[in-house]
Amino acid sequence: MKIKYKILAPLFRKKSKLECHQVLLKSNSYYRNLSDVHKANFQLRTLLFISTTNFSSEPGFLVNKKMKIIISSAFVQITFGLKTDTLKKFNDVFVAPSAYSYKNNKAVFKGDVNIATKKVNMSWPAIEKGFKITDDALNLSIHEFGHCLIFENHTRSYFSKIFNNRDFENWKNHAETKFKKVKAKENKVLRDYAGTNLIEFFSVSLETFFEQAAHFEKNEPKLYASMTQLLKQDPRNKKDPIL
Ligand SMILES: [Zn+2]
Repeated sequence: MKIKYKILAPLFRKKSKLECHQVLLKSNSYYRNLSDVHKANFQLRTLLFISTTNFSSEPGFLVNKKMKIIISSAFVQITFGLKTDTLKKFNDVFVAPSAYSYKNNKAVFKGDVNIATKKVNMSWPAIEKGFKITDDALNLSIHEFGHCLIFENHTRSYFSKIFNNRDFENWKNHAETKFKKVKAKENKVLRDYAGTNLIEFFSVSLETFFEQAAHFEKNEPKLYASMTQLLKQDPRNKKDPIL
């Protein structure tokens, strides 16, 4: 275990860690497959993320501990190989009881990240479904936190970037090639929504990276490799994904 987490470990109560373990074991397949050492680390990162995030909802809808653990686990999963274990700007997560829409806009959302308010909005049924079905490359929380990472990485100074600059440039090169394929409908791996723009492309790639890793690697080995390099992990190694 890294020194930072050795120091952090006693700060969280045994009961919290156990509760975290039990919820994750049931709801997060990535966690379920990890080695015991990684599981312990994952719990700490989840509790740390919860402690730095404000969760809210509409009156009458309570965001309980279990929901916070499930939502946070998506962020921990994406960043498990990275030094970054919390966000600096997107610290508000609004959990809607169902899909929602905005004033003067008919579109119905299951989730979105608001750059102006720095709020992450997600609807609970879609969050749950994302984790329940583990192999359809659809996971709302992973998708939305993917946006947060791109936005924060962009605004952070050179020395506090989330992603290594060279790794990010390398990913972008492969992503742009694949992006053209998606736009031309010559794509087998990523769903069409990835062709919206490079930001959506990243989030859709993340969902596929975690939920259909082998299929992704087989069909787009270079893009897949650039993602393992960027995130410092390979989810095909389920017990020990860290590189
Ligand atoms: Zn999106």
